[in-house]
Amino acid sequence: MKIVSAEFVTSAVKPGGYPPGNLPEVAFVGRSNVGKSSLINKLVNRKGLARTSKTPGRTQLINFFKINDAFILVDLPGYGFARVPGEVKEKWGKMIEGYLKHREPLKGVALLLDCRHTPTAQDRQMYQWLLHYGVPAVVVATKIDKLSNNQWAKQQSVIKKALPLAPEHKLIPFSAETGRGKEEVLAVLEGWVHS
Ligand code: GDP
Repeated sequence: MKIVSAEFVTSAVKPGGYPPGNLPEVAFVGRSNVGKSSLINKLVNRKGLARTSKTPGRTQLINFFKINDAFILVDLPGYGFARVPGEVKEKWGKMIEGYLKHREPLKGVALLLDCRHTPTAQDRQMYQWLLHYGVPAVVVATKIDKLSNNQWAKQQSVIKKALPLAPEHKLIPFSAETGRGKEEVLAVLEGWVHS
């Protein structure tokens, strides 16, 4: 799939603010700083579309982008930022779960994990939600340029075991720096959009 156009549609917290219409949606989720904005920008070839920031936890809204006038890419707020109060964390959880649970046009979710780290309790909870709600999913290991092939071979098993990764789900290594994994992720999105 080639992405030829990408435009910001709206930001929302609650279902009332989600965009109307029935274009299929694909969503991206992961902890703050995992490289979600960098991945989205790389996929759509637009440097500033999703804001990349060195300050984790700043994107606290659900952001909707229209791609190729054919589907909506949904940037869910990053979770797991240590320095926010419990109350804010709880709000994020509700926002994300609310979206996953009730969003009719949702076709699939990409869960992003930093390839170097063992999935956190929140990563595992997020993955379990996806399984629980039966949402089609893919797991993307970000920043893969930071590991050697050998290191990745080992780390891959750590991630698979920790989630634990279901046999129907792919684990795709990705780098926003080199573009590795980009075509594979786009192919998954295309499959969902046309499902
Ligand atoms: P977000 O909070 O999940 O949106 O994360 P960002 O996209 O803002 O990235 C967080 C940090 O990781 C930034 O300093 C990025 O430059 C860096 N980063 C993101 N993706 C990659 C990658 O593929 N490779 C490397 N080496 N760094 C990355």
